[in-house]
Amino acid sequence: MNLTQVIREVRKLVKERPDFVYKSPDCQCYYISVANCEPCIFGQAIRNLDPDFDFSRYMPPKFCGIKKVIEENFTYTKKQLLWCMKVQFKQDLDVRWLDCIDIADREKPINLGYMNGWEENPVEYDEHVKYCSGKMVRTKVVSCLNDYKCNECGIVYRVDSSD
Ligand SMILES: [Zn+2]
Repeated sequence: MNLTQVIREVRKLVKERPDFVYKSPDCQCYYISVANCEPCIFGQAIRNLDPDFDFSRYMPPKFCGIKKVIEENFTYTKKQLLWCMKVQFKQDLDVRWLDCIDIADREKPINLGYMNGWEENPVEYDEHVKYCSGKMVRTKVVSCLNDYKCNECGIVYRVDSSD
């Protein structure tokens, strides 16, 4: 199984239920069905292609992002990996499925705004810290104001270091 097939299956699932919003019982994302909640989109797509796919090592207590599942099981291009990570990020933010893939297709950076204004870390940022091995590339906007962009998962945020 390669990631092209998985992505095709994800698109098929979205086409069938564009308005579906994934909700897990405890705000985590699960690849298999738990507590009357259906699996996340990648869980469904992968199991549709391979009903015996073993998700046990990606389940709690060791919560695990899609990046690791892909890296350990599929052949893929970096672009495909990024696409999947974006879809999964958005799905876990209660975005309806069609918008998840629209956002990933547009390849826009995921803009998290001013880091100084965060009351708590955005989910994308936490995912980046936990699972992404990308480098943050700094671009100076003006003195004391810098943009940071991850070259893997695509998150972007701005830091004002003037105070
Ligand atoms: Zn990243």
